This record gives sequence, structure tokens and C-alpha cells, in this order.
Amino acid sequence: MRYRVRMTPSAVRTRPWELEGGLLRSPLLSSMGLVAGFTTRAFGSMGDTTTPREVQQRNRSDLATLLGFGGVARAKQVHGDEVVQVTDVPAAWPEADAMWAARRGLLLGVVAADCVPVLVASEDGDVLGVAHAGWRGTSLAIASRLVEAMTVSGGGTVVAALGPSIGPCCYTIDDERAGLIAERLGPGNEDLVAGGRFDLWAANARQLLAAGVTSVEVSGICTRCGSADVWSYRGRDSHPEYGTCMAFLGRPEG
Ligand SMILES: [Zn+2]
Repeated sequence: MRYRVRMTPSAVRTRPWELEGGLLRSPLLSSMGLVAGFTTRAFGSMGDTTTPREVQQRNRSDLATLLGFGGVARAKQVHGDEVVQVTDVPAAWPEADAMWAARRGLLLGVVAADCVPVLVASEDGDVLGVAHAGWRGTSLAIASRLVEAMTVSGGGTVVAALGPSIGPCCYTIDDERAGLIAERLGPGNEDLVAGGRFDLWAANARQLLAAGVTSVEVSGICTRCGSADVWSYRGRDSHPEYGTCMAFLGRPEG
């Protein structure tokens, strides 16, 4: 289902990502000449604790080849707020939930199964960044931290897109977690955790705008109740296998 971000400022727009060859593509970032999207289950798991490591590695490598890149830069995601710059596909994955790069020909990837994949690009496409924002990362403002790292490093004006992830339609949380999130996010953000739900899309959009992003595209595709063929951590019992899909962002060479 589609779900609009509440009290949407004009800079935030819900625009469904388009399915093309088994991949969901961001219309906004694709229109800038970038390779930007989210895999579906047809591409297999991109990173989880049960699928054999070599299978995941092959899935990522096949995807990179299909997209015209030599590999995909990944980080060990730990639901934290660390942001790293990468200049190549790292042999040893840095421990971080966001990374950015200022070069062509490098594909950045974050895996997710309900957490929000945040894709950020400078308007000229020269500086690109990705973040993995679940409730922990969002409450730690990982999206803002990524944008700050990119703009301080010369990213200039930036735009962003939020990929398929669990929507406010499905993301229920208990009072204890709501209290912790509200405390971390600070005054003025109580509405994001109202009614026993955490609106991850609105929270990340708000953080991106506050950090200076001029335009935010929200895919509006819920991994839990939407029709896209993607994994959902919350909905993992409804599918025989569990895995994660990968959000990707890169600028081709040339
Ligand atoms: Zn939903």
C-alpha cells in the first residue's frame, strides 16, 4: 500500500519506485543519471546470518555486474551512527551504517529488510551516500550525520530518496521504545512516535531536510504489507526463507 508522510512539506514527495527487470528504481535519482534502487527476492539474499556466505557474495557480485560495476562497497551494519568515506570496494568491511564516496564507477550498497535505506546524492551526482536506518539508526539521526559528512566534504546541494521499508502502517512499537526514541529525537518530534507507531519515513525525511537536503523522494513501499517481492523482518514468518534486499547507488564511469 502507499502511505503518505504526514504533514508533508513540499520538499518531500511520495513517489513509488518503479519495478524494472526485478529491481525497484528510484525515479528521482535515476533521472539524474544514477544507478539507484532496491533489489527484490528474485536476486536472492544480499546479506543475512542464515544464507551461506558464498551465496550472498555471488548474489552481490551478480548484481554489480548486471548494473555495470566491478563490485559493491559494503559495510558491516551494526544499527549505529558511524559514517565512513569509501574510495573503493573495501576488502575488509568497515563497521558503519552509512558510507559515502566522491568517485564514479563505485556502487554503494546497504542491506535492509524493514529498515529504511537512505540514498543521498549531490545535485551534480559527484558525491553519493547511503545509510541504513532502522529505529536505532533513525533515533541516532544517521541520515543527518551522512548528509553532514557529505556536504562538509564538498557535496553542495543534495537530494535524497527513501527506499522500500516498513511504513507507519505496520511499524508498531511499545511504550518503552517510543519513550526512548522521543527522548533521543528531542522536543518537537513526539508526533513521530504517536499512537504506538514509529513513522520511520517522516522521521528520516525530517532529518534530511533539517540537514539541508532540498528534495526527498519517499518510495512509500512498505516491506511488510506492500505488494513488492521483498523481505520483511517483521513479516519473516510468512515466507519460507529469510534474507535481505539491498539498496544500491552509484554513478557509472564516463
Ligand atoms: Zn505496511
